[in-house]
Amino acid sequence: MLEQPLLRQPDRSGDRDERFMGLALELARASLEEGEVPVGAVLVVDRAVVGRGRNRPIALSDPTAHAEIQALRDASARLCNYRLPGAVLYSTVEPCLMCLGAMLHARVARLVYGTTDPKVGAVARLRELRDSDARFSHDVRTQGGVLAGPASRMLLEFFEERRSAVSRRNVHRLHRR
Ligand SMILES: [Zn+2]
Repeated sequence: MLEQPLLRQPDRSGDRDERFMGLALELARASLEEGEVPVGAVLVVDRAVVGRGRNRPIALSDPTAHAEIQALRDASARLCNYRLPGAVLYSTVEPCLMCLGAMLHARVARLVYGTTDPKVGAVARLRELRDSDARFSHDVRTQGGVLAGPASRMLLEFFEERRSAVSRRNVHRLHRR
């Protein structure tokens, strides 16, 4: 049977977003296992993954080693291009201002993220900046809440583990006195 032309297929962009976010969640899981704040990101061009990243600032002694930056670097090196027009970046957690800035420099077309980050997440801040400054030469469309549940559960798991490690250390210190 002949395949239907792409245009006639029903819109499955939601399914696609969840599939790519699933890959980003696997990378976040790897961060968690390394003792880093669990965030994963993939960069997609023409429905193909061209960049992968996971949060690694501790392992690399690099404050800029956020998952999104890692995915942008991976994709740019692979495609030999510092600009990634038409790219979609999937991140398990709402990106910070640094990562959003890098996405603008790279001309990323769309950002899809999972859970919001009330502390450093800057999507709303970017919108305010864009609305107040007409000189913004590039715009990145944003969509949050895609597979937010597993992303936020992983963050909770990380911070609970870290809290209990701190209290175990404190108990240990008390016993040594
Ligand atoms: Zn960031």
